[in-house]
Amino acid sequence: MAEETQVKEFELTEDSELRFEVGDEDVVLELVKGCAEVFGTDLQENKKYAFPPYTRVAVYTWKEAVVELVGPAESAYVAKHTPMVIYLNTHAAMEQVRQHRETKDSLSKGPRLMLVGPTDVGKSTVGRILCNYAVRQGRTPVYVDLDVGQGSISIPGTIGATLIQKTADVVEGFEREHPLVYNFGYATPSANISLYETLVKELADTVTRQVSENDEARIGGMIINTCGWVTGEGYSCLSMAASAFEVDVIVVLDHERLYNDLSRDLPPFVKLLHQPKSGGVETRSKESRVLARAASIHRYFYGTRSHHLFPFTFDIQVSDVILCKIGTEKIPESCLPFGVEPENHETKVVDMSLAPDLVHHLFALSPCTEIGPAVTKASVMGFILVTAVNMETSSMTVLCPQNVLPTKVLVYMDLTHVDDQVQR
Ligand code: ADP
Repeated sequence: MAEETQVKEFELTEDSELRFEVGDEDVVLELVKGCAEVFGTDLQENKKYAFPPYTRVAVYTWKEAVVELVGPAESAYVAKHTPMVIYLNTHAAMEQVRQHRETKDSLSKGPRLMLVGPTDVGKSTVGRILCNYAVRQGRTPVYVDLDVGQGSISIPGTIGATLIQKTADVVEGFEREHPLVYNFGYATPSANISLYETLVKELADTVTRQVSENDEARIGGMIINTCGWVTGEGYSCLSMAASAFEVDVIVVLDHERLYNDLSRDLPPFVKLLHQPKSGGVETRSKESRVLARAASIHRYFYGTRSHHLFPFTFDIQVSDVILCKIGTEKIPESCLPFGVEPENHETKVVDMSLAPDLVHHLFALSPCTEIGPAVTKASVMGFILVTAVNMETSSMTVLCPQNVLPTKVLVYMDLTHVDDQVQR
């Protein structure tokens, strides 16, 4: 006998949310009556939204709603206490700043808000909500993601920015078309702080320059998500990012000590807010973070369920490309000729040879034509994944979004991924 499909209906009253987690099988959400939203995107009545395994979702209503879940959702419950009103007020304050600055002069920029806090406090989710509310208000903010571990603009190991012109898809999040992306190569800033800071400053300068040429983006402001590393050097990275992006507001989610430290160290013109995290956000295990990173890389090459992509697999001769990496061992000062200043070895670009252990590594595609300092700071054109290395023929097999490499300069990433898809 076929197993019975599990259907559950929930009635939501004003300012409450249904929280659920998807297990190994899809769960389909449907708004049966009323108004409700998922992280700031309105749900359409009677449309079926299929959430893939291991996602955590909150369906919130400002008024009232009846929603239905089909499938084996884990821990589905209705919460009456949420911080959504606080997040809405943050949006309203940002909108007031936009309106005020819009009438001031033609060069004023919109509000720049940075979200900080440890991992798993809902920073990216609040960023998504604020971007969605801004779009619903007719604005086009820039979303900046400095989280190299779980960023949502490109693959892990990168930082980037994207102009938000449409609300996020309820299931798949924001579109990832034409973002500005910089390759860091590691999943934590601590792997190379000097490089991380160089890239954050470069991203800030480039985004600021680009938005100055587009009135709507300039006034839309920026919503900046950060890494969950908030102590020691991680704290210094946050202060550096705040100053590089010239932020007006920093929202600290949850972490009281971070709030206290920042209130001591920040200049007075930066407004600091301490806001609660949502009770729905739960700490993810190390394994689930690894899975989320793999899913993000998979999405880069193969797309999503509704937007399939078809990557290509082909061989490249190493003699036809330039393999390089950023960062090298420090040369002891005693080995340098007299009077020669040591270079910053952490941001130095050096060439690389083919080696069997390059298999499963990602490489960023640099627009540069040769090895040099420009490679470090250049935004990247995309990524390839090495799926096999052949030392005898000096070649490697790569997975690539297109059928030819758009550049010769390939920049090594420490991140690896095992391609599990059928090739074509
Ligand atoms: P951070 O960016 O601080 O690491 P995220 O915003 O990625 O945290 O949130 C962690 C997880 O919690 C995500 O899977 C997100 O979908 C989920 N989540 C966020 N807000 C809620 C909520 N109100 N109810 C249920 N799950 C939530």
